[in-house]
Order: sequence, then structure tokens, then C-alpha cells
Amino acid sequence: MTSYDYDLFVIGAGSGGVRAARTAAATGAKVAVAEDRYLGGTCVNVGCVPKKLYSYAAHFHEAFEDSAGFGWSLSEPPRFDWATLRDNKIEEIKRLNGIYGRLLDGAGVDLINGRAKVVDAHAVEVNGKRLTAEKILVAVGGWPWVPEFEGNELTVNSNQVFDLDAFPQRFLVLGGGYIAVEFASILNGLGADTHLVYRGPLFLRGFDEEVRNFTRDEMAKKGVNLHFEVNIEKIRQVETGLEVTLTDGKTLEVDAVLAATGRRPHLEGLGLEALGVETLDSGALKVNERFETSVPSILALGDVIGGAELTPVALAEAMQLVAHHYGDEAPKPMEYENIATAVFCHPNIGTVGLSEEEARERYSSVRIYSADFRPMKHTLSGSDERCLMKLVVDDASDRVVGVHMVGEEAGEIVQGLAIAVKAGLTKADFDATVGIHPTAAEEFVTMRSVTRH
Ligand code: NDP
Repeated sequence: MTSYDYDLFVIGAGSGGVRAARTAAATGAKVAVAEDRYLGGTCVNVGCVPKKLYSYAAHFHEAFEDSAGFGWSLSEPPRFDWATLRDNKIEEIKRLNGIYGRLLDGAGVDLINGRAKVVDAHAVEVNGKRLTAEKILVAVGGWPWVPEFEGNELTVNSNQVFDLDAFPQRFLVLGGGYIAVEFASILNGLGADTHLVYRGPLFLRGFDEEVRNFTRDEMAKKGVNLHFEVNIEKIRQVETGLEVTLTDGKTLEVDAVLAATGRRPHLEGLGLEALGVETLDSGALKVNERFETSVPSILALGDVIGGAELTPVALAEAMQLVAHHYGDEAPKPMEYENIATAVFCHPNIGTVGLSEEEARERYSSVRIYSADFRPMKHTLSGSDERCLMKLVVDDASDRVVGVHMVGEEAGEIVQGLAIAVKAGLTKADFDATVGIHPTAAEEFVTMRSVTRH
């Protein structure tokens, strides 16, 4: 029998890689993880965690303004200090990196600091050393991608934007996805004069149309300058900043440009091409339901296999993978339907299930319940922020197939409702649920009139 150095060699200590390593090790497998950057991957270091911290920081801006109507006054106008936020964030991430290291250590996983290269179906090379493994897991995630245009080297990407030396008083973000709308909201909230430039007619392609329209209006009310159906033609460094020329001929001068134009699998230098590991058209690794690539001893999960690039998805895939390869019986295939998600633009979006447009395509008849209202808090705050809540119901079965919200803490609220959607509950079940008063969320169980069929 062949003996290997390891049962499982994981490349990449992000959310998915660490979860797979720890869970496999808990079954008795001998596991190593190689990581050349930071423990915790994109989510912990340059994604979800620092983004949420910055989003909290940005919300204070409104909180200070809102407080006046509740009787508060500030003796001096509030001031924001970028260096304090950035450096406190750096300390918190260091703490989390330490936790990840200890988790791996505690699980008995060998952590190797270096970028591993796959050299054959059962061997990797890292720091000049060849190590063998029965199975190799590629969990290297994605990397920001920037389109070609003159001066694109003057942009920053979403890995870099968290640690800018100076706060950009004038900020432009290119793109219309999660990162673009989140960073436009964050920088706007922190006080920058903010522009968002998106090539299509409306950002957040793929989300519910009503949610997209509502979010556009709310972000515009908060002062984000939205430029749709236009792209960046070139960027030039000028004495006072960056001069951005748009494809409609307009120019804007800003201090920083964030290119939030998507992320690509981070496969360079991994050696997978030479082994003939198949990829999809998007460049993501092609896997079967056991997360095996076309070379069966090489496994992959998370952002590197495409699909929903979300930490909880990578974590769920890791659990599935371990159940398949180290468990007693094969689990049911991973379900990718009804994955709830939040976009931390301001106000937040929370969503699970089908958009109205998708539901209309899938079902012969749907009922839409939609409410757009001024939250109670803003009756005194004076803010003109509104909240949108929406249920999409399949008429024939009465099942709620989509829940959407734009408003404060939308992610927190929709997470609970995602269980109801996942469980296939009906509108009648929602109606039979007694609300919690006074909350915004009670609207989800009190919407009785159909807005449209
Ligand atoms: P997205 O894929 O969400 O968005 C990319 C945006 O860039 C789209 O609007 C796209 O336009 C645009 N774009 C693509 N190519 C070009 C081009 N050549 N010129 C101009 N615009 C272009 O990627 P993000 O970078 O925003 O985020 C990456 C992933 O990270 C997300 O998909 C998400 O899964 C994850 N993420 C999740 C978060 C969360 O859970 N809250 C937060 C942040 C990220 P078009 O729509 O027209 O194709």
C-alpha cells in the first residue's frame, strides 16, 4: 500500500480550507494546510469582517444626525479619524488570525507557511520541499480583477482599499456588484464625496428589480453620486488627485478609485494546468458533487469553484466534502437553492429565494406583497430613509419563495426568515405567526393585501 505524508493536504487557509482541514482532522485524518498570506483568507482579512467593521463606522454618521430629534446635542461637530478606524481594524484582524492559528493547532493540523504548488496528483512542493498526500484540496479562493483601460494601475482593489494611508475625501468606485455598492455606502457614510460608476442601466444585476430600484433611490438620497450606463475610459494622475475620464466624456477628479469589478480564481502558479485539471469557461475549477476535480485525488471548494462566492457557502462545502471523503456514509448533495445573502450597502439589503422576476419565470402565477414605509425611528429622527419589505409567493402552492428587504438590519431579519423559506412554509404560515411589536420585522407577518399578481 502506498503511504503518503498526509491524508489531506489543503492549499489555502481561508474559510473553506480551514473548516475542511479541522473537520477532516477530527475524523482522525492526518492533515496539513499551506498558506502564504494570512490565516482566515479573504473573509477575515480583506472581506466580510473588515467591511462590516467599516460599515458600522459609517453608520455613526447618520446616528449622530438622527440623535438630535431624540433630544441629543453634541458639543462639537463629530469628526472622523481614518487612522483610528484602520489601525483598530488591523489589531482586530491580528486577533482573529491568531484564533485561526490556534484552531488549526488545536485540531492537530500542520500549518505550513508558504505557497504550495501541485506537482502531481498526490504531491505538492512547498518551500522547496516535496510532500505527498492521498488527497489535495485546492481552497485558494479568488483575487480581485481589474479591466484594461489607460491608467488602471492607478486604481486600488478591494484587498488594498481597507489600508489606504490617507482617507480619500473624493472617492470613486467602479462596478455594480456587492463590493461596489458596499464601499460606495461606506465611504459616503464616512464623509467622502462619493461616485459610483456602473456600465449597466442599474446596479446589483440578478437581484430583485424592485430591490435594485429602491436601493438606487435610497443611496442617491444619502448623497452617493450614481453614474449608470457609463464606464471608465482612462485615469490620469494630476497634481491635485486622479482625473477620471468616463466613456460619456465627463471627467471627475477624485483621490482614490476602487475597482470593484469582480474576482477571479487565484490559480496562477499552482501547477494545475500542467496536470490537466479541467476548468469552466469562467476559469473556475470544475468539480463533481464530491468536490473532486477531473483529477479525482485533487479536490476543490469555495470561491475557486465559482458559484456563490460567500463564506457560508464555502463552509457548507467544506462540511460536505469531509462527509463525502471521511464520513461513514455519503451525505445528500449540497443544496445551492435558497441561500440567504445580505449586501451591506446603506440601507442594507437582505434577501433569500427568488426575485419577483425569477418567480414569474418559474411559476404560472405569483402573488407579490410589498410594503415601503418610513420606519418608526425616523418619525423623530427626521431622516427620510425608507424601508422596503417584500414577499414573493407561488400562487398555486401558497409557498413563500422569496423574501426581500432593504432597510436597517436587513441581514439580521432575513436570516431568520430564510429558515421559513428553506422549510417551504406558506403565506398562510406567515399570516398565522403573531408579530413582535413594535418592530419593523413584524411587517413580514402582517402583509395581508396583495400588491400585484
Ligand atoms: P461582482 O461579481 O458582484 O460584481 C462585479 C461588478 O463589476 C459587476 O457589476 C460587473 O458588471 C462589473 N464589471 C465586470 N467587468 C467589468 C468591466 N470590464 N467593466 C466595468 N464593470 C465591470 O463582484 P464584486 O467584486 O463586487 O464581489 C465579488 C464577490 O464577492 C461577489 O460576487 C460576492 O459573491 C462576494 N461578496 C459578498 C459580499 C456579501 O456577502 N455581503 C460582500 C462583498 C463581496 P455586470 O453586472 O454588468 O457584469
